[in-house]
Amino acid sequence: MSSTVGVKGANGAGAVVPQSNSTEEVVAELLRRSSFMFVSHVKPDGDTLGAGLALGLALKQLGKRVGYFQQDPVPRNLRFLPDAEHVARDVPADLPADTLWVFCDMSDFSRAGEFLPKIERANMLDVDHHLGNSHFGGFNYVIATEASTGTCVLRLLHALDVTITPEIATCILTTIMTDTGAFMHTNTTAPVLRMSAEMIELGADKPLITEEIFANKRFAATKLLGMALERMVLEDDGRYCWTYVDEEMLRVANADGEDTEEIVQHLRAVEGVEAAALFKDYEGAVRVSLRSSGRINVQAAAAMLNGGGHFMASGLTFEGTLPAAVEGVHAALRAQGL
Ligand code: AMP
Ligand code: MN
Ligand code: MN
Repeated sequence: MSSTVGVKGANGAGAVVPQSNSTEEVVAELLRRSSFMFVSHVKPDGDTLGAGLALGLALKQLGKRVGYFQQDPVPRNLRFLPDAEHVARDVPADLPADTLWVFCDMSDFSRAGEFLPKIERANMLDVDHHLGNSHFGGFNYVIATEASTGTCVLRLLHALDVTITPEIATCILTTIMTDTGAFMHTNTTAPVLRMSAEMIELGADKPLITEEIFANKRFAATKLLGMALERMVLEDDGRYCWTYVDEEMLRVANADGEDTEEIVQHLRAVEGVEAAALFKDYEGAVRVSLRSSGRINVQAAAAMLNGGGHFMASGLTFEGTLPAAVEGVHAALRAQGL
């Protein structure tokens, strides 16, 4: 089976631009292999995890060996996902050499963290929907128009001879609900709603997903939200809203990093705001979440600072102090027309 096809730029002289493989090519490779390791990105979300678990469960039906590798622990609100109890930072000692490592929901393999063994490119499959994906795999299934990595996986499931069980349907619906903000974001298109209806018809537990991910907030999370909102700043004639969370705030609220997730959406929802930023100043670096209301491309802004993501939602890790991060992100957003 072919590896990634390279094509020259339009003028024939440009760098080789890697292309995605077709559904048929990826399915043929999945059928050819007998052992798989699924890899999620650091600080995992419902898309990176749900996509891998869905495809892993499907491949198990075909008698394949499946493992799940992830640097960070499964967040509390995703432990309900089927098979999540098998996710760990372990590489089995008896893993076959021709195992296919499937990276889900990451624009580059560096997003998997620092604890992976050395893996040959020929043994990597990159399944993703981020803008600017680096096509790092020997096989790449990258569809930037898809709402979630899980909907990319659903294309593969339809092409494979597998049953979409209620467990698989719950994983796929989790990816969609995570990346559409429970059907709120502009990526909630008619096909996305049709796929969601299909998953519910196949037994996806939507009430469970809603309860675990979107309700059921810890007291500490809501307390931290209040502290972050108290510190929010409105700039650029009301077009830019930002705030931060630092170690001291986490300590006072008795919260941890998992409790920061929904803060940035409150900033973006402020009337007139076109770009919002949350600065997470703990664990030795400043991680930044960026959100757009539709005019500013926050993926391009994040990319200027070695981050990535999507037009409407992106992120980056800033090596430096909080004031430097605030200044750097502000400059990057202005360069994108803020
Ligand atoms: P978050 O704000 O963490 O929810 O992330 C929003 C989007 O940005 C997601 O699609 C992430 O995959 C992406 N993203 C977050 N952090 C980074 C980073 N350091 N590098 C590249 N992409 C990132
Ligand atoms: Mn993700
Ligand atoms: Mn995603």
